[in-house]
Amino acid sequence: AEVELSKTGWLLDITKLQLGENIGEGEFGAVYKGEYMGQKVAVKTIKCDVTAQAFLQETTVMTKLQHKNLVRLLGVIPQKGLHIVTELMTKGNLVNFLRTRGRSLVQFHTLQRQTYRRKYVCEGMEYLENKKLVHRDLAARNVLISDDNMAKVSDFGLTRVDFKVSDNAKLPVKWTAPEALKKEKFSTKSDVWSYGVLLWEIFSYGRQPYPKMSLSEVKERVEGGYRMEAPVDCPPSVYSLMRICWEIEPRRRPTFHKLREKLEQEMGSQNPV
Ligand code: ADP
Repeated sequence: AEVELSKTGWLLDITKLQLGENIGEGEFGAVYKGEYMGQKVAVKTIKCDVTAQAFLQETTVMTKLQHKNLVRLLGVIPQKGLHIVTELMTKGNLVNFLRTRGRSLVQFHTLQRQTYRRKYVCEGMEYLENKKLVHRDLAARNVLISDDNMAKVSDFGLTRVDFKVSDNAKLPVKWTAPEALKKEKFSTKSDVWSYGVLLWEIFSYGRQPYPKMSLSEVKERVEGGYRMEAPVDCPPSVYSLMRICWEIEPRRRPTFHKLREKLEQEMGSQNPV
């Protein structure tokens, strides 16, 4: 049975929640498998000194988001901080998925799947773009894979709480656009920059971006015009998409809408299997 938000509201009843095994570690607490009224869920625990009320205000944004490529929020429970209950993504995050399964697949099928995966992420982001919401932490570690191999963006809506503007130490430097790092100018276009890095992660099977470079080196060199090379298995058409996502001038980067169109054109021109 699906949990109906309309009936329960987004405030869930802790007595109906059964916590299961630990399936991940988040920055603010552990993530558990669980069951809520018969539905398999993931429960993210937030140990935070911010009052639960402040978190609740932020998560109400999430209650208004529904898209097949965004991890769905089922509700929250104010409990020792906060429990955030979402749909369970059984295959975990995209980085681990790519690292363990990426190369084991036949080359051709790998490319086919990568094509779908990046389109799914793009569609989720286009939905946020239309709602004028900025993710701020788009990266393969924040894309989760469902049982039926759907890729969905997670950790949206919380980001405004997570990143205190002055708290630069917490920024994911290797994914963050230069103008966001330097002037804290976050926008959909800085999300597009991160999407370019995510494309690089997909085509390098979950490698850490800018391998062997320190964070301060990345900051300095990217500002100076340095860009990562194409991963070995990356088609030139995909690499050119990465490069336009990494334009130094935000307005020269494409929108997610435009990116999706480009991805679809490219898929249309591929030979059917
Ligand atoms: P944070 O953003 O606070 O670091 P995450 O939301 O990324 O925490 O969660 C940490 C890990 O927990 C993820 O990488 C993933 O492996 C697991 N996880 C989080 N949410 C889910 C979910 N809905 N379904 C399955 N696993 C999840």
